[in-house]
Amino acid sequence: MKLFLDLKWFFKQERRAYLTGVVMLVFVALLQLIPPRVIGIVVDLIEKGTFKTEDLYKWLGLLAVAALGMYVLRYYWRIMIFGSAVRLARQMRNSLYDHFTKMSQGFYQRRRIGDLMAHATNDLQAIQQTAGSGVLTLVDSLTTGGTVIIAMAFISWKLTLICLIPMPVMAYLTSYYGSLLHKSFHKAQEAFSSLNDKTQESINGIKVIKTFGQEREDIEAFRKQSEDVVTKNMTVARIDSLFDPTISIIVAVSFFLSVSFGSKYVIEGSLSIGDLVSFTTYLGLLIWPMLAFGWLFNIVERGRASYDRVMALMAEKIDISEPEHSVVPEARGAIQYDIDSFYYPNEDSPVLINIHFILRPGDTLGIVGRTGSGKTTLLKLLIREFDGIQGEISFGGHKLSDFTLEALRKSIGYVPQDHFLFSATVADNIAFASSEASYEQVIGAAKSAYIHEDILQFPDGYETIVGERGVSLSGGQKQRISIARALITEPEVLILDDSLSAVDAKTEEIILGNLKENRAGKTTIITAHRLSAIQHAELIIVLDDGEIIEQGTHESLMKKDGWYKAMYIQQQLEELVEHGG
Ligand code: ADP
Repeated sequence: MKLFLDLKWFFKQERRAYLTGVVMLVFVALLQLIPPRVIGIVVDLIEKGTFKTEDLYKWLGLLAVAALGMYVLRYYWRIMIFGSAVRLARQMRNSLYDHFTKMSQGFYQRRRIGDLMAHATNDLQAIQQTAGSGVLTLVDSLTTGGTVIIAMAFISWKLTLICLIPMPVMAYLTSYYGSLLHKSFHKAQEAFSSLNDKTQESINGIKVIKTFGQEREDIEAFRKQSEDVVTKNMTVARIDSLFDPTISIIVAVSFFLSVSFGSKYVIEGSLSIGDLVSFTTYLGLLIWPMLAFGWLFNIVERGRASYDRVMALMAEKIDISEPEHSVVPEARGAIQYDIDSFYYPNEDSPVLINIHFILRPGDTLGIVGRTGSGKTTLLKLLIREFDGIQGEISFGGHKLSDFTLEALRKSIGYVPQDHFLFSATVADNIAFASSEASYEQVIGAAKSAYIHEDILQFPDGYETIVGERGVSLSGGQKQRISIARALITEPEVLILDDSLSAVDAKTEEIILGNLKENRAGKTTIITAHRLSAIQHAELIIVLDDGEIIEQGTHESLMKKDGWYKAMYIQQQLEELVEHGG
């Protein structure tokens, strides 16, 4: 029940709707008392032989008024209470989404997507149920239960006490089942998260699964996880189904006591037949509040498990801290790397060691080295996808942490290796970071990225919808659209992370030429495997195992007998062979 306290902020916020709903529930509870009483009175009148036609109309009228009143009130309390619960889910869903968008890469590395989806769906649904059905069952079991018991006590307090004897047993059992339910529900939700995760991964990787002919294995793995969800939900259902029979037995015992002792009182003359009829009808009315009471434990336990899961997620700190205001509105100027070491979260060995260099504004930096040498990591630290370096990176003389993330990222156009295109038009994909960009700007960016001609060939030109992850486009086309997307904001620093790998040498040359022309005075950082992509750079650094092993210009590096020269000669030879030279 502590969950209701945890949700106090929400009940406060929605107090008008809840108060109205609760008041209506109380009126329904009072109106419910009328029919049993009327039946009892009519039975007594018939028994005494004094029942008249006008009495019939009077009592039938009263029953009709009570029924109509309950109909209207029941309709409105649903709108009040369930409507508020839907608003709670909306509010929590929005904050969760807000939280997701603020979290860094580290968070997404720790958490699985399917798990996050389960939080945003199943868990929020369970919380919504607590704020809706939970409140209803609590209020209804207390008001209906309370008023009916009082009405019964008015007829015969002795008989009421006798009939209530089994109640503590029910309270104990329902709370015991509730705690069992809590544990099993938690497990069921976790299994559902894993299944979500598995599905998401399989659908994402369907091409790989098919290429390697792993459908059967994947279906088997899915079947197992699906089975696990069923088993765990069956456990929940098994405990859940204990509630109703338990309550029915207890109600039956109450009925038994009421009829046995009630008839005895009628025979003794201390109770009329009409009173006994009213009393047992009231007892019938008690079934729902009792069921509701058991159900309440069940709903609240589910809500509790889900609320805890969502709160644990919300409590995850945003691990990239940023100041309230940027030290300067825009990041610009020289970029200086002074990294002693950098470790990825929970890793034992450093990914980068002793990285020291200065990139003057307007220069191009080329980063090369074997796969896994740390090139991408070097770039991710500049856009603060990860934090926690020993040392410092500064931009225009200010530490990166002195900029808000927005200011920092506004100055940087990043084209990542795993480019992602949204299921939208080509134009919208290019204008993604600059929604107010004009059509001319979109075309300008596309021309710079040397994709304009290709786009014109698409069925609807710039209005062509590209499928999820751009399935209908070639790798090179996707890369160039991603480059156009970064170019449209005319960023101070453009980062191309192996973004020319899928285009041929000639296209690469044209794009680099366009960049040189259109981005004069602006900084560009390029990582590449093909050295021709960085040959013209003012500064080239060669990384190996997270360390700089060579740095300089193309000319100075060619004078040394190092990795760069060897690789350059090798690539030249390969090209000669390829072109039949
Ligand atoms: P490159 O871009 O030169 O291929 P990366 O910077 O991608 O190299 O990777 C450098 C090393 O850091 C690799 O050993 C890689 O496995 C590791 N690494 C990359 N990203 C992460 C991450 N998010 N968490 C832990 N280790 C990572």
